[in-house]
Amino acid sequence: MAPIVEAGEPKKYDYLVIGGGSGGVASARRAAEFGIRAAVIEGGSLGGTCVNVGCVPKKVMFTAASMAEMLNQKHFEGYGFDVQLNSFDLKQVERPRSVDVNGTVYTADNILIAVGGHALVPDISGAHHGVISDGIFDLDKVPKHAVVVGAGYIAVEMAGILKSLGAEVSLVIRYDKILRSFDQMLSEKATESVEELGINLIRHDTVENVECDGAEKVLTITTKNGKVLEGVDCLLWAIGRGPGTEKLGLEHVPGIKLGPKGHIIVNDYQETGEPGVCALGDVCGRWELTPVAIAAGRQLAHRLFDNKAQAKIDYCDIPSVVFSHPPLGKKMTDTSLKKIVIGLHLFGINSDEILQGFAVAVRAGLTKAEFDRTVAIHPTTSEELVLMR
Ligand code: NDP
Repeated sequence: MAPIVEAGEPKKYDYLVIGGGSGGVASARRAAEFGIRAAVIEGGSLGGTCVNVGCVPKKVMFTAASMAEMLNQKHFEGYGFDVQLNSFDLKQVERPRSVDVNGTVYTADNILIAVGGHALVPDISGAHHGVISDGIFDLDKVPKHAVVVGAGYIAVEMAGILKSLGAEVSLVIRYDKILRSFDQMLSEKATESVEELGINLIRHDTVENVECDGAEKVLTITTKNGKVLEGVDCLLWAIGRGPGTEKLGLEHVPGIKLGPKGHIIVNDYQETGEPGVCALGDVCGRWELTPVAIAAGRQLAHRLFDNKAQAKIDYCDIPSVVFSHPPLGKKMTDTSLKKIVIGLHLFGINSDEILQGFAVAVRAGLTKAEFDRTVAIHPTTSEELVLMR
C-alpha cells in the first residue's frame, strides 16, 4: 500500500477509505451519493481481489471450462449440431484490467479500513515454486499436470476448471472429503463429483517438499505419505486466506485490536475500538465474500452519512455458491437438492442462478407450506424445490 502520510498539509476529506476493493469502493460510492467528500486509497489495482484476481476472472474461466465440457460431452450432437473443438487458447479468455491509484496525504473524520486479504502459502521447502489463485489468471496455456492443494472454495473451483480445460489434475486434501465445513450432503456430492470428473484425489495427505527442474520449471512434489508427483507444471496453493493487515502499522493505533490470525476485530456496526475508524470485508475475516463486503460498506455509509443510526448488515441467511465443475456426462436430473427448515442446499448445474432467487424466499422467512403452495414451472430443476415433500 502507498504511504498514507507525507510531509505537508494534509488533504481533508469527510470519509477516507483505505482499500479500493469491492467493500471499500461500495462504501465510498454510497457515501458520495449523500454529498460526502470521499477518497479511496489503493496501492494496487482498483477493484481488489474479486474484480482483478478473484470472482470475476474465475467466472470467465469457469464459463470457458463449461463450454469445453459441453463440447467434450458431444452435448451439441444430441441436438443435431455438428460442432468440433479444434483448439483452445487460454490467452484469448478475456480478463478484466483496471487502473492504479496512489494516495499521498489525506485525513478525514471517518476512516474505513477495507484492505482485504491474501492467499496463504505453507511454510515448506520449495513452496515458492507454487502459485496462489492470483497466478492462475496469468497462465498462458492450460497446464499438462496441475497439483492443487486445499479443500475449500478455491481448490475445488480451480481443480474443476483446469480439469475441464484439459489438464491432468491432482487434488491433495488433508482429510477424506472436500468442503468439509459445508452440509454433509454437499461435501459428499462434491467429493464424488471431483472423482467422476477424473481428478486424482489424494486423501489424508499434505505436500511436504517441492523441487524444481531448472529452466523448464517442471516440479517434482513429494507428499507426507511418500507419494511422488512428477512432471507438474502448475502447483496451486489454495489453503485459505489471511488478512492484509501486516503493512498498515496498526500497532500504532491502540484502539484497533486484532484476532489470533491478524483480522481486525469489529462490532456489528463495523466499528473498531478506535473512534472514527471502521473496518469491513476480508480484513475482518467474517464471511469472506464480495457481496457481503459490498453490503457492509453500503450499510456503513448509510449509518455514517445518511442519518440511519441503526444501519448494519445482517449476517443471517447469507447465500454462497461454490463454482465446482459439474461432472462429465451428467444431466440436470443429477442435481441434488435438500430443503431444510432454515435454508436450502443445492448441488448441480445452475445452482448459482437458482439459489439467488430462493435466497430471497429464505431471507423473507417463507415456510415450507408456502413453498408447497407455489405452482411449479415445468420442466425446470428449480421446480423440485417447490415439489419436494
Ligand atoms: P477456504 O477457507 O475455503 O478453504 C481452505 C481449506 O484448505 C480449509 O478449509 C482446509 O480444509 C484446507 N487447508 C487449510 N490449511 C491447509 C494446509 N496447510 N494444507 C492443506 N490443506 C489445508 O479457503 P480458500 O482459499 O479456498 O478460499 C478463501 C475464501 O475465499 C473462502 O473461504 C471464501 O470465503 C472465499 N471464496 C469464495 C468463493 C465463492 O463464493 N464462490 C470462491 C473463492 C473464494 P480441511 O480442513 O478439510 O483440510
